[in-house]
Amino acid sequence: MVLDKDIQAQLEQYLQLMERDVLLKVSAGSDEVSMDMLALVHELASMSPKIQVERVSLPRTPSFRLMRGGEDTGITFAGVPLGHEFTSLVLALLQASGRAPKIEDSLVKQIQSLRGEYHFETYVSLSCNVCPDVVQALNVMSILNPGVTHTMIDGAAFKDEVEAKDILAVPAVYLNGTLFGSGRMSLEEILTKLGSGPTPSELADQDPFDVLVIGGGPAGASAAIYAARKGIRTGIVAERLGGQVLDTLGIENFISVKYTEGPQFAAQLEEHVKQYDIQVMKAQRAKRLEKKSLIEVELESGAVLKSKAVILATGARWRNVGVPGEDKFKNKGVAYCPHCDGPLYQGKDVAVIGGGNSGIEAAIDLAGIVRHVTVLEFMPELKADAVLQKRLYSLPNVTVVTNAATKEITGTDKVDGITYTDRDTGEVHHIDLQGVFVQIGLVPNTEWLGDTVERTRTGEIVVDPRGATSVPGVFAAGDCTNSPYKQIIISMGSGANAALGAFDYLIRT
Ligand SMILES: Cc1cc2nc3c(=O)[nH]c(=O)nc-3n(C[C@H](O)[C@H](O)[C@H](O)COP(=O)(O)OP(=O)(O)OC[C@H]3O[C@@H](n4cnc5c(N)ncnc54)[C@H](O)[C@@H]3O)c2cc1C
Repeated sequence: MVLDKDIQAQLEQYLQLMERDVLLKVSAGSDEVSMDMLALVHELASMSPKIQVERVSLPRTPSFRLMRGGEDTGITFAGVPLGHEFTSLVLALLQASGRAPKIEDSLVKQIQSLRGEYHFETYVSLSCNVCPDVVQALNVMSILNPGVTHTMIDGAAFKDEVEAKDILAVPAVYLNGTLFGSGRMSLEEILTKLGSGPTPSELADQDPFDVLVIGGGPAGASAAIYAARKGIRTGIVAERLGGQVLDTLGIENFISVKYTEGPQFAAQLEEHVKQYDIQVMKAQRAKRLEKKSLIEVELESGAVLKSKAVILATGARWRNVGVPGEDKFKNKGVAYCPHCDGPLYQGKDVAVIGGGNSGIEAAIDLAGIVRHVTVLEFMPELKADAVLQKRLYSLPNVTVVTNAATKEITGTDKVDGITYTDRDTGEVHHIDLQGVFVQIGLVPNTEWLGDTVERTRTGEIVVDPRGATSVPGVFAAGDCTNSPYKQIIISMGSGANAALGAFDYLIRT
C-alpha cells in the first residue's frame, strides 16, 4: 500500500467526483521506481471503478499517461507523483474525467486560442512546493487544448536526463525540447510568454481607476479589498498574485490561523480578492509611474493605466550577493530556494551564504540531503536565533565560517567552487563544491520608481502614518516601505491603512 490511511480516505472522496472513465496507460520496468508507480496506479484503480490501468510502452519508463475515452489528454507523469505532486495527480484525474478546471473563462479562451504544437516537459523534485503550480497549469493547458501536451518528470527518477541537461533548479520547463523557463510560473505568465495574454491596448483601453494597487502580495490584496469595500473603482496589477507567500512553507504566525502553507494562503488571498469588484491584471509588471492630472502607471507591455490614487505594494525579493559568478551560474549551481532545489544536490557539497535565520534554516534543511554544508557568514558571529544555531552545531556535516567575505563563485559550465576572504587575516580561501545557496535577506522591488517617490538609501519607500508617500495621491504598503518589520500580518495591516489613507485623499480632493 503506497498511500497512508488518511490520504486514502480523502482521496476516495475526491475520486467520487470523477465524471467519466480515465485509462492510465502505464510503462513500467522491473526497477524500484516502476514497482512503486505500479503499486500507486493499481491502488488508484482499486479505489475507483472509473480508473482502469493498461500496460504499454511509452517514451519514458517508468511513466503513465492519462486517457479519457479513447482520447489522449496529453498528460504524462514520469516517476511517482507523490509528495507535493500528489495534488497534481488528483487534479489531473478529475480534469481528465471531465471536471472543468477552476480557472477564469478568459484564461480558458486564451488556452483554447493557442494554435500549434506545444510539447512541455517539466522537471520537478517531489519536495519542491513551487513545482505543483507549474505542473498543474501545464496540465490544465493539455486538458483544454489538443495541441498541448505535458510531462511531469521527477528528477530523482530520471537522474541521467537531469545531468545531461545540467538541471540544478526546479521546476525546469522545456517546450519542444528547448528550455522555456525555470522557477515559479503562473498560468497567466505562461500564456503571456506564449503571446496569448491580454494585449496592451486591451489593458490600456479602460476607464481611469479610483485606486490602482501595484503588487498582489498580502499588502496589495488587503489594500485592494479595503478600497473595493468603499465602492470605488479598484484595480490591481501584479506580476504574481500571492507574492513572497508563494515561496513560504509553513505559516504559524498569521494570528487566528494556527497553521497554513504558503500556496494555500496565496490561493485564499486570490479567492478573497475575487469576491469583490476588483479589476485584476495578473502577470503584468509596472515599469514607470508619473503624476499628471491623474497618476499614470506604464506596464512593461507598453500599456498605460490611469488612476486618481495609486497604492504601491511591490514587496521584496531575495538579495543577491553581487559577486562574480552569481549571475552566470543562476540555476547552474547558484540557488535561492533550498526547499525547491535542495534535492538536486543530493550527495554533493554546498555552501550557504548568510548566517541569519533563513540561512541557518536552509543549512539545517540541506544538511539532511547533501554531503556537506559550509555556512559563510560575513559578520564575526551568526545572527540566527539561538535554538537554530544549537541545532546547526549538532549536525556532523556542517562547517561554519564567520568573518567570511564571499569573493567569487567559480566554475565553467556550472558551479565548481567558492572563493572567500577571511576578514580577520585577509587570506583568500577556496572551497570545491557544486552548489551555493544565497540567503542574505531581501531587497525592495522599487528600482522602477527611480526618483518619482522618496526612498531610503536601501530603496524602501518612505511613508507617513497614513501610508502616504512624497507624491500626493501615491500611497505605499508592506515590505516595499520603510516599515521596520516585514511580516504577512504587518503587510496586510499596512495595506488596509494605505487604502483608507487613499480613500481619505480621494474624498478630500
Ligand atoms: C521564505 C519566506 C518565508 C516567510 N515566512 C513568513 C512567515 O512565516 N510569517 C510571516 O508573517 N511572514 C513571512 N515571510 C514574510 C512575508 O512573506 C512578507 O512580509 C509578505 O509577503 C510581504 O507582503 P507584501 O505584499 O508587502 O510583498 P510581497 O509578498 O513581496 O508581494 C509583492 C507583490 O508585488 C508584485 N510585484 C513586484 N514588483 C512588481 C512590479 N514592478 N509590477 C507589478 N507587480 C510587482 C509581486 O509579484 C507580488 O505580487 C516570509 C518570507 C519569505 C521569503
